[in-house]
Amino acid sequence: MSLSQRMSLIKESPTIAVMTLAQKLKREGSDVIILAAGEPDFDTPEHIKKAAITAIIDGKTKYTAAGGTIELKQAIVAKFRRDNNLEYTTSEVIVSAGGKHSIYNLLQALIGEGDEVIIPAPYWVSYPDMVLLADGKPVIVDCTIATNYKITPNALKQALNNKTKAIILNSPSNPTGMVYTAQELRALADILISYPQVYIITDDIYEHILFGDAKFVNIANVAPELLNRIVIINGVSKAYAMTGWRIGYAASKDSKLIKAMETIQSQSTSNPCSIAQAAATEALNGDFSSILMMKESFQKRHEYVVTRLNKIKGIKCLPAQGAFYSFFDCSEAINNLYTAGKINQKNDLAFSNYLLNNYLVAGVPGSAFGLDNHMRISYATNMQELETALNRIEHALC
Ligand code: GLU
Repeated sequence: MSLSQRMSLIKESPTIAVMTLAQKLKREGSDVIILAAGEPDFDTPEHIKKAAITAIIDGKTKYTAAGGTIELKQAIVAKFRRDNNLEYTTSEVIVSAGGKHSIYNLLQALIGEGDEVIIPAPYWVSYPDMVLLADGKPVIVDCTIATNYKITPNALKQALNNKTKAIILNSPSNPTGMVYTAQELRALADILISYPQVYIITDDIYEHILFGDAKFVNIANVAPELLNRIVIINGVSKAYAMTGWRIGYAASKDSKLIKAMETIQSQSTSNPCSIAQAAATEALNGDFSSILMMKESFQKRHEYVVTRLNKIKGIKCLPAQGAFYSFFDCSEAINNLYTAGKINQKNDLAFSNYLLNNYLVAGVPGSAFGLDNHMRISYATNMQELETALNRIEHALC
């Protein structure tokens, strides 16, 4: 069998690969603790599940409009008005099978051969590969712990040129949990103003998972003059513990772009699941108490995990402001393990394999997110498991 040329450009999603491997080990009887999955451990709230059951009973089991039901689109429009102070019409939003699918469709509609897409690293694992699938060129801008893993105006300026077609911003960030402030976004906007051909894609999927006094701001709130070229991606997966339902959405004032995404969708997947759309409509319109409960829980776990991590020899972890990941620098720990002959290579892949094989803790190596010598662990799991996992990591590195 000879696969297409395009398959040589991309790899399997590393987050999904680690999750699949760890779940297999678990099924085979291993006591592995899986801190790889980027999904809330909570169940979908009851009222949302009931809405799906009602949809089935009411026969909402047929095709819907390719770009989503009018009810869900209206709920999305209302969400943007309520939560983000942004006005969209239903023809400026599209519903897809998860935020990931929205990004994929968007890049397919927007990016062509040679178009450059700026991706600040550490980035979510799928952005570069999705750009490659659209024949574009990912331009990775390395961001370090010194700038809280965020892109600076200067670094942005250096990456921009006349081939730049888009930039992808993700705040709160997966994997770092860092949040861009209004001032930081304004400073980026001041640079982007001079590049009118550049679309600004914001992945806001962790919008509601914020800690302490961190505030969610979209660049559209601080730079309304850029609104026409901002495309917002969001979804119900993380905020409402609905990862398996696969409902995400995109919004843009450029309704031709939304229409193009719908065309792609109509020729590939057709509509997202009708039942999941009914559930998502209830999620966006309904009672928000579950968001607060989950957020408080993530915040407590975050404090616990970061405190413990920073007490472990060779690990340095910045506190996050949102999402449910700890992304830590383990370069010193890698060095120590290598010097002691416990790992054969001095990198985070060897480090994460060592933790998985010898201490039964599954995390995702930082290099999967574009930054070596780091590791991401998710604390979307219960406190007891977190405590055991951290005891194991401590033991592995002592
Ligand atoms: N976004 C989640 C993660 O980063 C889910 C898995 C995926 O699609 O990458 O783990």
